[in-house]
Amino acid sequence: MSPNKTIGILGGGQLAKMLAAAAADLGFNINIYCPDRDCPAAQVANKMVLGNYDDDKNLVAFVKNVDVLTYEFENIDIKALEELEPLVDIRPSIKALKISQDRYTEKSYLNSLGIKTTQFYRIDEVSDIEKLFIKLKKSMLIKTRRLGYDGKGQVLIKTQVDIKEHFLRKKLSPCIAEELITFDRELSVIIVRDKEGNIKTFEPGENVHEHGILVTTTLPSSMSEALKNDATMIAKKIVDDLGYIGVMGVEFFLKEHELYVNEIAPRVHNSGHWTMDGSYSSQFQQHIRAIMDLPLLSTERHSDIVMYNLIGKVTSNLVNNELAKIYIYGKKHSRPGRKMGHVNLIKKKGS
Ligand code: AMP
Repeated sequence: MSPNKTIGILGGGQLAKMLAAAAADLGFNINIYCPDRDCPAAQVANKMVLGNYDDDKNLVAFVKNVDVLTYEFENIDIKALEELEPLVDIRPSIKALKISQDRYTEKSYLNSLGIKTTQFYRIDEVSDIEKLFIKLKKSMLIKTRRLGYDGKGQVLIKTQVDIKEHFLRKKLSPCIAEELITFDRELSVIIVRDKEGNIKTFEPGENVHEHGILVTTTLPSSMSEALKNDATMIAKKIVDDLGYIGVMGVEFFLKEHELYVNEIAPRVHNSGHWTMDGSYSSQFQQHIRAIMDLPLLSTERHSDIVMYNLIGKVTSNLVNNELAKIYIYGKKHSRPGRKMGHVNLIKKKGS
């Protein structure tokens, strides 16, 4: 152990805050780089550096004081990161980030590994949407290739009128059109890989989204052991292929016993928050251990648990439940759709 080392995190949101807390438990220093002085991670970091994510000079100065650089979100300027690469270990790698930043690249990459995704099409102009709709004659989701999260940047097209309403006379940023699938369930695998190629996976959790935003994750899921195993094997294939270091979240749709990967996130993931209270280790501890070359811990689940996101509010009717652990992110302003905290509700054995 080298507790005097410093971890730099790009981003200061709730994921950075929970990573920083896990790192502090191991004695590491945490420096946060973020444009917002009042960000959640400021509550627990050793040092805050204020700056924009494309400010090369400021970023170079930031990494001079850190031993390992990690990140809590995908939308970081790749060019800026490439300049930092000779100066500091970036974990997970830029390659993983590059793939996951762009939905078209991401799905093409997954298909190249033989992993199923929903059918998708490249959209560069509004006329591409019109032509595709006439050809397919079915509903589709238009998603921006970049910068989309929590259902943002997505438009459901059911009729030609929808296309006119949403896109006519508007400048279109590069998008994909995705076949709309009526899935039976959504699940995710939280996986961690270290530099030596050791891999641990948490049990797949079952997710419910509303308006594109994660609302709950439930463990155990109602999925068969065979399907859980298949999902885990798919996640392993991805991290192995990337030579990945750190935690990754892999989101799936399940439809008629077939698994489709919807998204990969090269970071700790909202659907892994249950691990803080339902497992022998949390995804945050595992990420810090993987990027700092410490042995990985057991990912075994010890309790049945439901994670509830607090969306647009910091209150919950679970506050008086003595088995509910509440995490408030400390965001200064709440607004509809904003993740303000989460609650892990543990189920007592035998109840
Ligand atoms: P995404 O931003 O791609 O992760 O999408 C957020 C949520 O929207 C997913 O978790 C699903 O609940 C829903 N969704 C996304 N893509 C599709 C699709 N092709 N068909 C049906 N539902 C979808």
